[in-house]
Amino acid sequence: MSFRLADSHTHLDEPELRHQKEAVLARAREAGVALVINVGIGRENSRHAVATAARFPEVYASVGVHPHGAAKVQPQDLEALAKLAAHPKVVAVGEIGLDFYRRRSPEKVQEHWFMEQLALAHDLKKPVVIHTREATAATLKILREGRRHLWGGVMHCFQGDLSEAMAFLDLGLFLSFSGVLTFPKAEPLRQVARHVPLDRVLVETDCPYLAPQPWRGKTNEPAYVTATARNLAQLHNLDLEETARLTWQNTLKAFGLDGKGEDIQPSAEPKA
Ligand SMILES: [Zn+2]
Ligand SMILES: [Zn+2]
Repeated sequence: MSFRLADSHTHLDEPELRHQKEAVLARAREAGVALVINVGIGRENSRHAVATAARFPEVYASVGVHPHGAAKVQPQDLEALAKLAAHPKVVAVGEIGLDFYRRRSPEKVQEHWFMEQLALAHDLKKPVVIHTREATAATLKILREGRRHLWGGVMHCFQGDLSEAMAFLDLGLFLSFSGVLTFPKAEPLRQVARHVPLDRVLVETDCPYLAPQPWRGKTNEPAYVTATARNLAQLHNLDLEETARLTWQNTLKAFGLDGKGEDIQPSAEPKA
């Protein structure tokens, strides 16, 4: 294998994947995917994300409550997240943000817990993993008001236009492209991806959701991030190796893992 890839956003502890993590990560290694960020979506799920990271050398974790769950958050959940974040393999707070598309929680409540978790990330000196859907203006407003307090972060599954991309880059954030980049109807997004600087771009699966072509509709897994990386490579007239190298470096940078890259050696035998 002449390249190694990082999958910057996964949910290995969702029901579709959690009973087959060994096999899923073995297939990832075979495909060249040597670093996986496992992202929490709630207090319990974040606990699982950290346990999985503790078990597999190539897996790191992010802890947070997804905007869908905002209506059910209790103040003590934030204390629990802070405790979890003390684990050495927790690299970020997230995913947090705003989702005005599904609106599973009221907008004001989402905004409240987004800001609370941004403050938590600031206290912990950790970057954030941000989810935003049909809420770009509100997301930007909150991030801009708190920009002095940001320790960096990633706009995950980025699907905005070029001006939105530039606004988030302006805040010092990275943009992460998912399998959506490979969808036939995603030509506008591919145009955006063509124009963003390659030192600020990551790739992700968001597995088990959003499988890229040619696996669309199937359960997504980290091995499939290769399809998104290949697509990004084509858009920039680069080979896969160079794209893998760049996005790998960016992922290390985004999650404060600089200098640890050589230590991330996936073992065939995970810790029991
Ligand atoms: Zn998300
Ligand atoms: Zn996600």
